[in-house]
Amino acid sequence: MRKTNVIGIMGAMPEEIEGITHLLDDVSVETFGQREYHSGFCKGQKFVVVFSRWGKVAAATTVTTLIHEFGVTEVLFTGVAGAIHPALKVGDVVVGKRFIQHDLDGRPLMKKFEIPLLNQTYLVANETKLEKAKDAVSTVLEDEALHELISDSDLQSFDILQPKLFVGDIASGDQFISSDEVRQNVLDELPGVLCVEMEGASVAQVCFEYGIPLTVIRTISDEANASSVVDFPAFIQSISSVYSVAFVRELYQLK
Ligand code: SAH
Repeated sequence: MRKTNVIGIMGAMPEEIEGITHLLDDVSVETFGQREYHSGFCKGQKFVVVFSRWGKVAAATTVTTLIHEFGVTEVLFTGVAGAIHPALKVGDVVVGKRFIQHDLDGRPLMKKFEIPLLNQTYLVANETKLEKAKDAVSTVLEDEALHELISDSDLQSFDILQPKLFVGDIASGDQFISSDEVRQNVLDELPGVLCVEMEGASVAQVCFEYGIPLTVIRTISDEANASSVVDFPAFIQSISSVYSVAFVRELYQLK
């Protein structure tokens, strides 16, 4: 028998989740481990939406519940991240191609960054899902679409001119990176990394182990340096939450 397609959506911020649940009908809420899972339908498709909570353990636990209790067949993670690569600016968006845990170090038993028992360092996104995510993000970031979505004054207040899509490596760790020194360390050790956050690679590990395709879309909220905390709540409210809802609508054709 064919398994019913259930899409799990995890957000790094409660505000983002709220906007996404508003897209759904017949919503029911179940709580497991202090997490509220919102199940509902849109255009006949079932979705389960949940705030991941912050950090690798929290996000891994949340996605495991999505898999076991809700039978999700694919997962989207959407949230904010700090830029590591100098080309990235606040308001740009990264679609993850590979995921690595920058704070994982099992030496001398294994290579630095290698995931115990999996013999892998980078986990790779599903190619088909990646292409779909790229298309969806590009559409949302097109000049006209973007200006319909977000007011000029909100864009200006974060110096967002022409936000760009980047596709590449995302590094996760249990650390909010907000100093030039730590940022530089990540860049030196992992020169291909575009951005850092605290969940993606742990969710990728669980999804890999269960054979579930994962898409990670991250909006750059800060440059992982001393100014990282400035206007964080305002950014979430006026930019990243709006982006996330738009990405979901575009990705799953919910318009
Ligand atoms: N400051 C926030 C707390 C959330 S920050 C608040 O009080 O509302 C943690 C979230 O931001 C995580 O989901 C993490 O993945 C992401 N993030 C954004 N910028 C980051 C950075 N520079 N380093 C690590 N994680 C970052």
